[in-house]
Amino acid sequence: MRSIAEIAARLQGYDPQALSADAVNAFLAQLVEPVRDTEEVAVFEALGRVLADDLISPISVPPHDNSAMDGYAFDSSQLRPDAPLALEMVGTALAGKAWQGSAGPGQCVKIMTGAIMPAGLDTVVPQEFATVRAEPFDGAQGGPVEAGASTSTGSVRTVVLIPPNLLQAGDNRRLKGEDLHQGQPALLAGERLLPAAVGLVASLGLKTVKVRRRLRVAYFSTGDEILSLGEAPREGAVYDSNRYTVFGLLTRLGCEVIDMGVVRDEPALLEAAFAQAAQRADAIITSGGVSVGEADYTRAMMKKLGDVAFWRIAMRPGRPMAVGRIGDAVLFGLPGNPVAVMVTFLAFVRPALLRMMGANAANPPLLKARSMEAMRKKPGRTEYQRGIVTRTQDGSLAVRTTGNQGSGVLSSMVQANGLVVLHHGQASVAAGDEVDVMMFEGVI
Ligand code: AMP
Ligand code: MG
Repeated sequence: MRSIAEIAARLQGYDPQALSADAVNAFLAQLVEPVRDTEEVAVFEALGRVLADDLISPISVPPHDNSAMDGYAFDSSQLRPDAPLALEMVGTALAGKAWQGSAGPGQCVKIMTGAIMPAGLDTVVPQEFATVRAEPFDGAQGGPVEAGASTSTGSVRTVVLIPPNLLQAGDNRRLKGEDLHQGQPALLAGERLLPAAVGLVASLGLKTVKVRRRLRVAYFSTGDEILSLGEAPREGAVYDSNRYTVFGLLTRLGCEVIDMGVVRDEPALLEAAFAQAAQRADAIITSGGVSVGEADYTRAMMKKLGDVAFWRIAMRPGRPMAVGRIGDAVLFGLPGNPVAVMVTFLAFVRPALLRMMGANAANPPLLKARSMEAMRKKPGRTEYQRGIVTRTQDGSLAVRTTGNQGSGVLSSMVQANGLVVLHHGQASVAAGDEVDVMMFEGVI
């Protein structure tokens, strides 16, 4: 584990008083390490967990060629461009059991979605495109059916007419192993098991999967003006919201949360809280008390107990932040303002926690949207504006801000569906310019 000073020394242009957002992320990538312990969990328990090892597929999925549609399976070499193909239906292949018969030239098999393709048949005509009719049958087996030719008495056979120029060889057939190949990695270590991945694990017939242990994150709010729920209002005090947003953000990320409440601004209480959090958790998140000139003990206690850097980040909102280690736990000392808490979490803490979880998930992709308004911006800092992205009539994306962008205005985060990211070097934006947006969907 490298100290704050060691990491700082290796970082190009490290200036704790004016750190760029990129430099913060580069620093944190050096600071954190993935948890090592793993456990085997049932597939239902695996949602949101991080895969410990590459998952090698023990089977092919699907295990055999099968039909993608309800229809009629046939041998496509009989298709002609100029005439419909008339085939005698000689059986039915149901999903879940192999049809035992064999179909020769001039024959087809009624087939259900998912049923194994009978031997020698490679194409399926969907039932809605086939014309089916019953025909009297003279008893002779096999051979192409001549439309309307049969007159003799006896049994009735079912004839399927396939229109010309509709199908190509292999249409509506799913190939064995087209999803996953036996012996190949189906998922790579570090994959966050979201619903599709959980389903994929199950599709391999696996009942359990090896994942990294859950990351334990302790959090508390600081500040003598912060009221816990249930406390009577008093002048100058506000109810604690940060613990609840942090709880939500961590829970969404799949962390094990350790809620340590509101810690009053007394050295003994702060010391006990930090010590306990460091013992129980891999990471500690606090809010409040990290800006310069705070008349409180939070900064002093972080300094006393850990190896901590105090930064001024070139960003808005959320300038002050403390980062380091207390014991073996990584400390993220976030500012107090509720929007700043969420923005610093999304911009820095979330990527760092994902690394600690062992996830190789990159940052969420930024979307481009046309700004519906001008935005004043000075180059030299990153700004995160609360944005509402909508689809315009021509189908492109447009974004407007929520109005009041104060860092204490939590309602702006509720109205917004994403953050407009005005990058470090970017200058003011004119109405109609394209801007980057980090969408909240799947993130918070
Ligand atoms: P600080 O970073 O401690 O200077 O706090 C900045 C602003 O955020 C102040 O107006 C605080 O009252 C507010 N604040 C700090 N912690 C919380 C919290 N847990 N919930 C809501 N507001 C808070
Ligand atoms: Mg304060």
